[in-house]
Amino acid sequence: MLLKGIPASPGIAVGKAFLFDIRQLIVTEKDIKQDAVPSEIVRFEEALIKTRSEILTIQKKISREMEAQHAEIFNAHLLVLEDRTLIEEVIQGLKKERKCVEYIFSKVIGKYIKVFSKMNDEYLKERSSDIEDVGKRILKNLIGAQEKTLSDLKEPVIVVAYDISPSDTANMHKKNVIGFITDIGGRTSHTAIMAKSLEIPAVVGLEKATAKIKTGDTLIVDGADGIVIINPDKLILKKYEAKQQKFAEFEKTLLDFKDTIANTIDGHRVEISANIELPDEVDSVIAHGAEGIGLYRTEFLYMNRNDAPGEEEQFEAYKKVGAKLSKSPVIIRTLDLGGDKFLSQLKVPHEMNPFLGWRAIRFCLAKPEVFKVQLRAILRASAFGNIKIMFPMISGLGELRQAIKVLEEAKQELRNKKINFNQDIEVGAMIEIPSAALTCDLLAKEVDFFSIGTNDLIQYSLAVDRANEKIAYLYKPTHPAVLRLIKNIIDSGHKENIWVGMCGEMAAESGFVLILLGLGLDEFSMSPVVVPEMKYVISNVKFEDARKVAEEALTLSTGEEIETFTNKRLNELIPWLKKTKKQ
Ligand code: PEP
Ligand code: MG
Repeated sequence: MLLKGIPASPGIAVGKAFLFDIRQLIVTEKDIKQDAVPSEIVRFEEALIKTRSEILTIQKKISREMEAQHAEIFNAHLLVLEDRTLIEEVIQGLKKERKCVEYIFSKVIGKYIKVFSKMNDEYLKERSSDIEDVGKRILKNLIGAQEKTLSDLKEPVIVVAYDISPSDTANMHKKNVIGFITDIGGRTSHTAIMAKSLEIPAVVGLEKATAKIKTGDTLIVDGADGIVIINPDKLILKKYEAKQQKFAEFEKTLLDFKDTIANTIDGHRVEISANIELPDEVDSVIAHGAEGIGLYRTEFLYMNRNDAPGEEEQFEAYKKVGAKLSKSPVIIRTLDLGGDKFLSQLKVPHEMNPFLGWRAIRFCLAKPEVFKVQLRAILRASAFGNIKIMFPMISGLGELRQAIKVLEEAKQELRNKKINFNQDIEVGAMIEIPSAALTCDLLAKEVDFFSIGTNDLIQYSLAVDRANEKIAYLYKPTHPAVLRLIKNIIDSGHKENIWVGMCGEMAAESGFVLILLGLGLDEFSMSPVVVPEMKYVISNVKFEDARKVAEEALTLSTGEEIETFTNKRLNELIPWLKKTKKQ
C-alpha cells in the first residue's frame, strides 16, 4: 500500500514501524454492570493516588534541581487532583450512566477544560492547561498506558505518529529513529525543519498513516518524494534500496563542493551559511562547508526539560558554538517560542491563534527578566567568537526600538560588572511579518542586517498556516506577493547599505535560488546538508542570468507559473543537478 504526503526531509529509510501515540490516549466507551460500579470507583481512586504520587515525585525533583517557584506549578496540579466537585461528578456519572470510568472521567475533564479555557479571567483561563495535564496523567494511569519516549527505543525504527512536536524531534537526536512519518504537519513546520537538520528522512501530512500502519509493519519512507510504502514486496524493496544508494552517492558527490566559494561564473559573491537548532549541530555545519551560522534557533535549548536554562548554561552553549566557528559569523536569534514551539516550563497559556499570539519578541518584551538572561549570555559569549544578535518576529520600528533598549540595558549591566563583551556587536532583525517587510526602509536605518524568515513571511502574507497539511498547496514561496515583499526587503536593505540574508526554508531550495540570487540576496542560510548543493548551483550560474530570471519572474502572474519558469531555467542552466537528484 502506498501513501502520499508532504516531503519534509529527504533521504530514504527502510525499516520497521513504531507507532508513537502517547498523546493520543484512546478511551473506549464500555458499558458496565451495576455491580461493577464499586470496583470502577476503586480503579478511579487508585489512579488518583498514583497520579498524586507521580506529581509529588516530579515536584520534589524540580525543587531539588532549581528554583522553588518552578515546583509551585505542580501545586495547581495537586489541587485539580483533590477537587471534590470533579471527583463527585465522576462518581455520580458512573452510577448514572454505567459506563467504564475512563470514559466518564474523560467526559467530565473535557467539560472542565472547555469551561476554564473560555473564562475571561486570564489566571483561570491558564488553569485549563493544568487541568488538561493532570487529566492526561490520570487517564494514562486508568488505561494503564505505558509512557514511552523516543529515547527508550532499543532498536532502529521508523516512528509513525499523528503529530510529533519539535521537542520530540529534538529528542530523536542520535537515537534509534531512522525515519518518521506523521498524519498532520507542513513542509516548514519546525518538526520538518528539525528532521532535515538531523538528516532523518521524513514525510508529514499523510492524514491516515496511524490508522493504516501497525507497529512492526515494514515501511519505506521516501522523504524527497513524500511517499510511504507499507509492507512492500521484494521487487519494490530492491528498487528503493537502489534509490537509497543513489541518494547517498548524490550527497557524497555534492560534498566535493563543500569548500567551493559561492561565486557566480561572472564573479558575484554571496555567502552560504547554516541554520542550527542544537549546539551539537556545529560539527555538521563545519563538515558541510558552511561559512557561518545564519540562524541559531535558541529556543531548542529551552525544550525537553522542566526548568529554563540560566545565564551560565546559555553562555556556555553560545560560547561553545561561537568558539568552534572561530572567526566565522554566528547569528544567535533570541528566544522565538510560540507558534508550534511550546516550552512547558514557561507556562504560556493556550491561545486560539498561537502563530498570531503572545510569542517570540512579544513574549520577551513582556518578560524582560527572562529576555535579559539570554541577552547577557549572548553578549558575554560575543567575547569568544564572531557573534551577532537577531530579533525574531519584529512587526515594526516601535518594537525593534524596545528590543534594542533592553539590549542596551543588558550591556550596561555587564559594563557595571566589568564583564567583557563585544561593544560593537551587530544587531539584526528577522523580517518575517508583512508589516515589517513593508516598513523595512525604516527598520534598515536602525539595524546592521536583515534576515528574511520566509517560513513565517509566507504564512502571514498568504494566510496559510505553515503546519497545516490541508492547505499546503497554497503555501507558495513563488507567489507574486511573496516575491514583491522579498524584493522590497532586499532593495530597502541595500539602500541603507546593510546586507540582507534569508534563513527561511526558501533559501534551501535550489529551485528558487536563481530568483533570490537575481534579486540580490547577499546570504543564504539553510540546513547544513544542503550547503554543498547550494554552493554548487551558485558557482555554476551567471549572476546576469539570475538577474534576468528574477526580472522575468516578477512579470508573471501566479506562483505556479513562476515556479515552472524558474525550474525550467535552472534545468537549462544546470541539467546535471535534476538528472542526478531524480535518479
Ligand atoms: C522563518 O520564519 O522563516 C524562520 C527562519 O524562523 P522559524 O522557522 O524558526 O520560524
Ligand atoms: Mg519564524
